Amino acid sequence: MPKGYKKTREEKRSCCGRFANLMNGLSSGRDYFNVLYCHDTLCPICGKKGGQNHKKRKRKILDQIISEYGSLDGLASRRFVFTVPSEVRELLQDREALNVLLHDVHELLKKEFPGRQVYSALHPVGDKSSDFHPHVDVCVIERLNVQGGVRMRLGHDRLDIIKNGFVASLQRRGYEIDNAVVWYGFNLKKAQFLHSLKYVSRPCPDYEQRKIIETENPALFHFLESDEMRGFKFVRKLRVKVDQSQYIEGKKTVKLEKMKFIERVPFNWSKFTDQYRLHERCEVFPGFWTVRNGGFTDDDKIELQLNSEGRKK
Ligand SMILES: [Zn+2]
Repeated sequence: MPKGYKKTREEKRSCCGRFANLMNGLSSGRDYFNVLYCHDTLCPICGKKGGQNHKKRKRKILDQIISEYGSLDGLASRRFVFTVPSEVRELLQDREALNVLLHDVHELLKKEFPGRQVYSALHPVGDKSSDFHPHVDVCVIERLNVQGGVRMRLGHDRLDIIKNGFVASLQRRGYEIDNAVVWYGFNLKKAQFLHSLKYVSRPCPDYEQRKIIETENPALFHFLESDEMRGFKFVRKLRVKVDQSQYIEGKKTVKLEKMKFIERVPFNWSKFTDQYRLHERCEVFPGFWTVRNGGFTDDDKIELQLNSEGRKK
């Protein structure tokens, strides 16, 4: 392969999960390896619900919450769904218009819930449809045990302010509408709270649905996969400093140890599964694995090195 050659999307997808970086822990001496994924939306491994893209986004959100709220305990999420009225949907099939939509929703929530983390996700389609149906799913993070308590239920007056704010922001952008739908709910239990974060970070449409859209609504498929939409951030965090009242001294999070890169080796998932029983292997970070019993045996290492021979110049 010539130097500087850039792999096509298809070539990258065909290598997905087939190579790993072999690393060595500087303090523990343990072997780690990082399975290399392509992170393409059209990859069946990376693009599905619970796939690599979904895991990565969810992990990032959890890390950001832990760093600004101290822990994941005692938190709740307010959920909003801002739906773009059907009469102007077609006008939003445009990168800049979608950026503006997400920006306006953030501005609105920054005013309504100051000093809170806000995550929003643009979902271009509904769960079981191939029609363009842009809506913004939002999670506002709240600590429950603050002094004076927190009021999760919102009255009609408060919800009307938020809905009218959304309608006004669309009108300011020149959309001729007089109403919009804003749904509100909240999650109090930890399991529901975590589920809401998983839901908001999900790939939408996921691989399966994307394949259906490809045949049922090719125009939308081409828009989502177009150069225009390349690198579009579907999940975003509002840039705001979280109020100190929300922070509690929590458990220290486990830091990954410093690692030294050794080499890139072919990776075979089924061989890995055969060699190490489930309780012995451990995913320390999405895509980063180690083996609890202390790492590879010398024989395994030799085998991995032999496998990588073919790639050496
Ligand atoms: Zn992939």
